[in-house]
Amino acid sequence: MRYLVLTDIHGNLAALQSVLADAQPFEGIWCLGDLVGYGPDPNEVIERLREFPLVSVLGNHDWGVLGRVDPHIFNPDARHAMLWARGELETENRRFLAGLPAGIEVEGYVLVHASLREPIWEYLLDTESARKNFAFHDFQTAFVGHTHIPLIFELVEPAKDVRVLQPDWNEPLQLDGRRLIINPGSVGQPRDGDPRAAYGILDTEARTFSFHRVAYAIEITQERMRARGLPQRLIDRLEIGR
Ligand code: ZN
Repeated sequence: MRYLVLTDIHGNLAALQSVLADAQPFEGIWCLGDLVGYGPDPNEVIERLREFPLVSVLGNHDWGVLGRVDPHIFNPDARHAMLWARGELETENRRFLAGLPAGIEVEGYVLVHASLREPIWEYLLDTESARKNFAFHDFQTAFVGHTHIPLIFELVEPAKDVRVLQPDWNEPLQLDGRRLIINPGSVGQPRDGDPRAAYGILDTEARTFSFHRVAYAIEITQERMRARGLPQRLIDRLEIGR
């Protein structure tokens, strides 16, 4: 099966639409959370995702929009966008979000938003925190989001060292015989300096994963954000990918 693995869409429908078109063909979507927050289209993103066979976990912004955490742990811009999305979210979409788990194992792959030991909050950016996560849970391949930075951590046996691999764009990464934590990067708010939407394709028969980027109409999302009075800093960052 070919699965579209994506994360951190953040209510950016234009970015999601470009990813869905670019990633075809695929049999289902595995989403690593933060469907909403920051962006202008929380309802539309949830509804579009649900048109496909979908497995999804919750992210920290989803928690925020659901009112499960104190909004003041978010910075003022994120909080503004989160509270706006909370007011916008339609009942059925809220119910759908509220039913999502913090983590899930599907076909032997682990899906969490942030990390294995802290599924909602930990930023997995360095080898030391990755090492602790390899030790925490006996998985082969785990998929994470949250940092908005496409990246691979590999546990190197027997020394138990962790090395960081950069994505080899469009090239299949072999998953067999190794332990990996893979972040496909963000669909709706990339932060690695490349403003294009990021996503991955998992082929469960070939046992490969590939990283991809696709340009989308950033100005459409920016215009929708302006119309909804969302913070200027969040509008500006989309075009620099930071
Ligand atoms: Zn996020």
